[in-house]
Amino acid sequence: MASIADNLDVIRTRIAEAAKRSGRDAAAVELLAVSKTFPSEAIQEAVDAGQTLFGENKVQELLAKQPVLSSKLRWHLIGHLQSNKVRKCLPIVDAIHSVDSIGLARDINRIGSELGLFPKVYLEVNLAAESTKHGFKPDQLKEELDELYALDRLFIQGLMCIPPFDANAEQTRRYFVVLRELRDELQVRGGAPLPKLSMGMSHDFEVAIEEGSTMVRVGSAIFGSR
Ligand SMILES: *Cc1c(COP(=O)(O)O)cnc(C)c1O
Repeated sequence: MASIADNLDVIRTRIAEAAKRSGRDAAAVELLAVSKTFPSEAIQEAVDAGQTLFGENKVQELLAKQPVLSSKLRWHLIGHLQSNKVRKCLPIVDAIHSVDSIGLARDINRIGSELGLFPKVYLEVNLAAESTKHGFKPDQLKEELDELYALDRLFIQGLMCIPPFDANAEQTRRYFVVLRELRDELQVRGGAPLPKLSMGMSHDFEVAIEEGSTMVRVGSAIFGSR
């Protein structure tokens, strides 16, 4: 069985090749190693192989793992965040990819201010209007953009999406295109840059890179199946 270090090697190569294919600089694509459900020993193996950026989807799990690993690691929250966990989460995360409502954005802004922090956030977009998924609907985001930009503690990086699962990555390409085009439109509308696109997972990260992803969130292809 391939080791975590081997898997990381393969993923990094595939990222570089996808970037090259689409005329992009590989350094413009970050790899977020999604370590949810895997123990800190597995994360340490990835750290030993040079990985320092990790993603978790639950605050509780992050709170358990973060203290037992190097303080030099950067953690990104990628799962739905309940308002009552914001205060615990903010001091230990480098960024939150799952800001999925104006209410949560307001809470992060207020608590960020109380804690003296300027949280880095991505706005999660529910592109297929799936009722089972969180996220802003595109029209809603356009309407609420001014209010989001007025939340002056938030350091809005860009957009994030989790498209409907399709084993055939080509089927997902259109969602990545829609997210990029929405980003382009919001940049014009809001008059502020939204440079980051958090999109692409184990089965479709190469397509996401071809469509402009700046951070791919890869779990099972690194750590194994969950
Ligand atoms: C679990 C998860 C991932 C990683 O999924 P894999 O298919 O294991 O690569 C990426 N993004 C989010 C939001 C996740 O919850």
